Amino acid sequence: MKYIDPHIHMVSRLTDDYERLAHAGCVAVSEPAFWAGFDRGSADGFRDYFRQLTDVEPKRAAQYAIRHYCWLCINAKEAENVELSRDVIAMIPEFLDRANVLGIGEIGLNKNTPNEATIFCEHLELAASRDELVLIHTPHLEDKYKGTRMILDMLKNEPRLKPERVLVDHAEEHTIKLILDAGFWCGMTMYPITKCTPQRAADMIEKYGTQRLCANSAGDWGPSQPMAVPQLILEMKLRGIAEETISRIVHDNPLAFFKQCKRFKIDE
Ligand SMILES: [Zn+2]
Repeated sequence: MKYIDPHIHMVSRLTDDYERLAHAGCVAVSEPAFWAGFDRGSADGFRDYFRQLTDVEPKRAAQYAIRHYCWLCINAKEAENVELSRDVIAMIPEFLDRANVLGIGEIGLNKNTPNEATIFCEHLELAASRDELVLIHTPHLEDKYKGTRMILDMLKNEPRLKPERVLVDHAEEHTIKLILDAGFWCGMTMYPITKCTPQRAADMIEKYGTQRLCANSAGDWGPSQPMAVPQLILEMKLRGIAEETISRIVHDNPLAFFKQCKRFKIDE
């Protein structure tokens, strides 16, 4: 079955992973800008990273007939450094017109601090002023509910950003309804040690349906499973869920969200 992984950090993955994804039916990935595992020292470090995301990685993906899209931002962890964050936000427009850029992301909160909130709102301002899509990271641990509430409140304060142009990611059982009820797109991340599993994601699909719901691996440099979306496809097949429903979650929905980007192109 053709599928899209709408959140995966391919810069951290082997070329072998592209091959496995392609064999499993992956036709496109989207890669949000994230934390490299260490704090970068200057905006120039991000400039090189954005070149990698917009120039190098699409070519690597193309070798396996996978379309590569990306999102640009400074992540919530490094947002604690407000001065650096502002330098990076000021530099992002240099890259916003590149063909594979879908918008601003993954912005959000990590520890729900005032500095993170300040930089989150400044990213929203950039996205709203440029009419860009937004991809949002919600905190992983015990602060997820509080962080998700804070994020939804800040989004409500930016009326220029329509909910259907924003995806709120890493949803779990206690946050999915908040996100969907507010009209946003919602992502479920399947991760081996934290976040949710393919089984729990399938449970949520059975409970909440397929509207504005996507699933991703968030594969990165840590313990993660780049094949999580094919695992979810298998889990849904074993439950007897209709092919059409499965395809909506893993292909049609991410595609519908991406298509709202003015630069979006796909060879059908
Ligand atoms: Zn991520």
